[in-house]
Amino acid sequence: MQRRDFLGLTFLSAVLPPAFAAEEPAWDVIVAGAGGAGLAAAVSAAEAGARRIVVFEKAAVVGGHTILASGSVSVAAGSSGDSAAEMAAEIVASGGDPVLADTLARESAALPVWLAGMGVRWEPRLFRAVGSLAARNMSTGSMRGGFEYVQALNARARALGVEIRLCEPVRSLMTDEDCVTGVVTAGSDGTERFHRGRAVILATGGFGANVPMRRRWRPELDATYRTTADPTGMLGDGATGDGIDMAAAIGAGLADMDAMQLIPYNGGRVLDYAGGEIWLNAEGRRFVSEDADFRDIQTAIEHQPGRMMWALTDAKSRKGAGIGAKMASGIVKTADSIEALARAMEVSEDVLRSTLERYNGMATDKRDLDFGRTAFTQTIDTPPFYFGIERLGIHMTLGGITVDERARVLRPDGRIIPGLYAAGETAGGIHGRNRLGGNALTEAFVFGRIAGTEAAKY
Ligand SMILES: Cc1cc2nc3c(=O)[nH]c(=O)nc-3n(C[C@H](O)[C@H](O)[C@H](O)COP(=O)(O)OP(=O)(O)OC[C@H]3O[C@@H](n4cnc5c(N)ncnc54)[C@H](O)[C@@H]3O)c2cc1C
Repeated sequence: MQRRDFLGLTFLSAVLPPAFAAEEPAWDVIVAGAGGAGLAAAVSAAEAGARRIVVFEKAAVVGGHTILASGSVSVAAGSSGDSAAEMAAEIVASGGDPVLADTLARESAALPVWLAGMGVRWEPRLFRAVGSLAARNMSTGSMRGGFEYVQALNARARALGVEIRLCEPVRSLMTDEDCVTGVVTAGSDGTERFHRGRAVILATGGFGANVPMRRRWRPELDATYRTTADPTGMLGDGATGDGIDMAAAIGAGLADMDAMQLIPYNGGRVLDYAGGEIWLNAEGRRFVSEDADFRDIQTAIEHQPGRMMWALTDAKSRKGAGIGAKMASGIVKTADSIEALARAMEVSEDVLRSTLERYNGMATDKRDLDFGRTAFTQTIDTPPFYFGIERLGIHMTLGGITVDERARVLRPDGRIIPGLYAAGETAGGIHGRNRLGGNALTEAFVFGRIAGTEAAKY
């Protein structure tokens, strides 16, 4: 008698409808999750020749965290003298797996053309995203790059005949002996639905919104910490680690589960690039290099009184990242003079003046004697000043399912689980302890693309 495993429990095939066991798989490729990685996987599976492709998405809309992203994508592209080797070396220095880092960096170079072919309109310049170590980031230049990537991938997937089923979460994986043979989903009436497929790609995102799950590895990250995807706790955040649980239940390995990234994002920051902002503590003094990597930024903020900071820029900078919504809700305010700014921030005007004077002198010389910052795009001296409080939010979980460079899911001993692939934030081990700015979207697109191609071949 044939055996199948659901969520680690063994069922006999007799529990399935009689015709089911003998049936041909209905799908060539099943994708769980319609974020950046899942949509990229579906598109690339279709481009590689798979015909019957379905994406199950638990939310009522496609996009996941990807649709919320401001849009910095890292690419190993030439103009700054940068290369894939340098990009990979930075990731490895953060503890990332060398083979995965090399794949990410090398394959990143092809992303701009691939996405442009689907309608993404890139801004023709490289910039240095906040949290990035070099000017290797691209974006559409609008305030909603993530939305534009999702829109392009979604349209392309649908044009290629991919079926996208919304409000249908994947609950567990079906297996036959060692191989994954399909998924079980929950229908809108709560009933289980069984779907056989030749290959399954998990692209369900991270687990930052699952408080018990994140506390298993980081007990201090209790419910008082919000996610940057849902800063008020009222929007809903699908990053609940479903794919990780499903893969672990059938014996997949997990990597770097305690590595989580907390960043300032939903408050006073209005720039996606490093160079046009300064960050001040509650006394009105700088306390960190604003172009440091996210790990150093996090540590520095954690050591400030109230674990808060002010983000401050002026009229000259190029605003992004939802400034309209931030100003409408009062998160970001403006002041027409340093005096008014000091009053609003409740800091000493003398301290603030001297902070700005010192900073502007160093920005003119492009040399930060205090914190070693190297990215300067302007001085901060032209009213109105834009400012607001920032706190750390859980932005991204770096740990997840162990994969190889072909996005194949691995057991703890390194053996492949046939038929199962994972891509995007649900996979672990790529970034190590510190995800560099722009590398998450690149991971979703690069490994989503690889997973789709590999699943189609399989
Ligand atoms: C506000 C914000 C801004 C960001 N900005 C940037 C940026 O500019 N640059 C950058 O590199 N990174 C950025 N990031 C990080 C980056 O966006 C994410 O790491 C990346 O988009 C993850 O892509 P993904 O496809 O793996 O997951 P997601 O895009 O989150 O997609 C996962 C999808 O799976 C669905 N899902 C979950 N469970 C199930 C289930 N059981 N069944 C079916 N579907 C399921 C979810 O609903 C979701 O739609 C940002 C993150 C946030 C929150």
